Amino acid sequence: MNVFQEKLYEHHSQVFTMDADLYRARTKFQDVLIFENRLFGRVLVLDGVVQLTERDNHIYHEMIAHVPLMAHGAAKRVLIIGGGDGGTLKEVLKHPVERVVLVEIDDDVIELSKRFFPQVSDGAFEDRRVTLVIGHGVEYVTQTEEKFDAVIVDSTDPIGPGEQLFTKAFYELCRNLLRPGGMIALQSGAPFYNPEQLESVCSRLACSFDAVRPFLAPVPTYAGGMLALVAGGEGHKALRPPIETLRAQFDRLRPNTGYYTPEVHRAAFTLVPAFTPAPTRLAQPEVPSQPAPVCPALYASHHG
Ligand code: SAM
Repeated sequence: MNVFQEKLYEHHSQVFTMDADLYRARTKFQDVLIFENRLFGRVLVLDGVVQLTERDNHIYHEMIAHVPLMAHGAAKRVLIIGGGDGGTLKEVLKHPVERVVLVEIDDDVIELSKRFFPQVSDGAFEDRRVTLVIGHGVEYVTQTEEKFDAVIVDSTDPIGPGEQLFTKAFYELCRNLLRPGGMIALQSGAPFYNPEQLESVCSRLACSFDAVRPFLAPVPTYAGGMLALVAGGEGHKALRPPIETLRAQFDRLRPNTGYYTPEVHRAAFTLVPAFTPAPTRLAQPEVPSQPAPVCPALYASHHG
């Protein structure tokens, strides 16, 4: 039997049967593997790490897109960094946005996703509201003068080309691109395996955003089955509005979703203590000689 073993963590890993081997190559930036698994359908792997499967990608894409956009309520301009498979883009376009800029470093990921996973983007790249930029996310946020209502960082993990998308400097640049009321959302790996990453991401974000809150998405094919995402904005209530506000918004838009609902939005922010970054453990300075960035937003009340 042909198998793919994801070796992200030292003492535990996940294994998929490769029921058909569809594509393998090295792009300018990363190794790509695409195979078919009988349970999850087609699977996209970059640098040995599962990015998405046909069967469960909607959970991740809906949560990373609809949580910030439903919470914002009136986003017109959205910036997506990464996201070359087009799944987040497809979800963002379900909102009445005027313009979406997607900055992907690796154009091969876009072409391969269109070819092997056409239903993930479902024509989103052809939407006239979309501007595609092939380039490094950090370069784009450094150079652009455009302002956005939401920035969504749909990146690979902090290894390889995605590494610089997890720095305090990058988050600060993103903050500077936001219009009043603007929000950021990003993925921060598997909190069970890597709580330190979630803590350092929250701590770094909190240097630029008044409110920072992790939320969870259950994605079976991300190791551990639970992905941590993080939202940042101007207030805790803004990130997790009252259920009536979310329901009114959802009824008005009626987005075709398989996982996201207003109730799921609210519930996703209820974290068990083990996944809640604790003040005492927020000691992840990027430059060892500097004090750890203090993160008052995380200490504030998470109720409401
Ligand atoms: N859902 C996925 C996950 O968390 O496993 C992320 C999927 S999406 C395919 C990630 C994309 O980020 C990749 O296509 C990768 O090429 C892109 N990416 C990585 N580093 C980047 C950078 N510095 N600038 C822009 N895009 C980047």
